[in-house]
Amino acid sequence: MNTKLVHDVEQLQEETKSLSFPIFQTSTFSFETAQQGEKRFLGEEAGYMYSRLGNPTVSALERKIAELECGFSCLSFGSGMAAVSAVLSSLTKAGDHVICSSGIYGCTYTLLEFMKKKYNITYDFCQMDTKRSIEGLIRPETACIFIETPINPTMEIVDLELVSCIAKAHHIPVVVDNTFSSPYIQRPLEWGCNIVIHSATKYLGGHGDVIAGLVVGGEECMKEMKKSVHKDMGGILSPFDAWLLLRGIKTLGVRLDRQCLNAEKLMNRLSKHRAIENVYYPFDPNHTHYKIAKKQMSLGGGIISFEIKGGKEEAQTFLNALSWIKIAVSLGDVETLIQHPATMTHAGIPLKERERMGITNGLIRLSVGIEEWQDIWKDLKSALDRIQ
Ligand SMILES: *Cc1c(COP(=O)(O)O)cnc(C)c1O
Repeated sequence: MNTKLVHDVEQLQEETKSLSFPIFQTSTFSFETAQQGEKRFLGEEAGYMYSRLGNPTVSALERKIAELECGFSCLSFGSGMAAVSAVLSSLTKAGDHVICSSGIYGCTYTLLEFMKKKYNITYDFCQMDTKRSIEGLIRPETACIFIETPINPTMEIVDLELVSCIAKAHHIPVVVDNTFSSPYIQRPLEWGCNIVIHSATKYLGGHGDVIAGLVVGGEECMKEMKKSVHKDMGGILSPFDAWLLLRGIKTLGVRLDRQCLNAEKLMNRLSKHRAIENVYYPFDPNHTHYKIAKKQMSLGGGIISFEIKGGKEEAQTFLNALSWIKIAVSLGDVETLIQHPATMTHAGIPLKERERMGITNGLIRLSVGIEEWQDIWKDLKSALDRIQ
């Protein structure tokens, strides 16, 4: 995997031998006129025409991600949410039904609410821990199963093999938002799932300088998505942003190795602090879904969630006492980021739903960076010590 990450699937540029893939910053490509006597029809040949339909830099990125996720092809989008909305609008029609993991990204939730109001597309949340719990929700109009694992921000794990087996028997496609793990840690298509989505803004980019989304899947569904939602809804990725991702991906492995190592060190210390109630990390042997996490993930990931004893006020006291760790809603960057889901990323979800998802007022989500773990711990500890 680390070799694949660094080496381009592309041949070196024949003419220039440039190691970095060039940025084709162009909207349009011209047609080559036929020489005298040649019988060719303009517009009927393969090749680039217009960058919304295809661009060499963007294609290089798409081929790379398809290879990493072991899919047929990839489509890139201007944001993770553009990717999520493209997949949902490609798979559903008015009146359809979606089954979701017990927690989903805040904006995916509000998007489903929008689709419910506008197209009468309904959805159910499901714990997905037993065959019965999933089969009990399947209806004739169920158009897809939409999973996040680990679930943001509670770090619950969904068994990809179990869900894909049940879905296959009912001919329902399984979509996995793989943002939290990246293909370095987890490859849902290998477990029989059908479509993988990424907010490439997070681990794939890794440096907090690009917003992007990616979708990988099998031949049939990707061809359908390309000619309908990608081309006509048009939420495409720019060549420069594709280039930033091509660059970021080269270091995905070394970044995640370091982030996971740091996360394990921090998890052990956080769980012993008197101000903390619970720590949620997939590779914590005490995690409810530890066995499933070990089966489908090669590392525990760079995100730890933990519950501060008390609630909102104690969580705020803690955040305000941090000296250099940045309070910010993104994740997967080289720098450590921390946030309070109830008032930040998941504030758009009604209180009752939030409580059902396990997003309490004391919950904190930590995206571990590549700094020295001792420095991260020093800052966390001194802020935790300030809680009365
Ligand atoms: C950030 C995120 C998204 C949305 O991606 P954007 O690039 O911000 O549009 C979707 N799913 C998950 C799990 C995310 O973390």
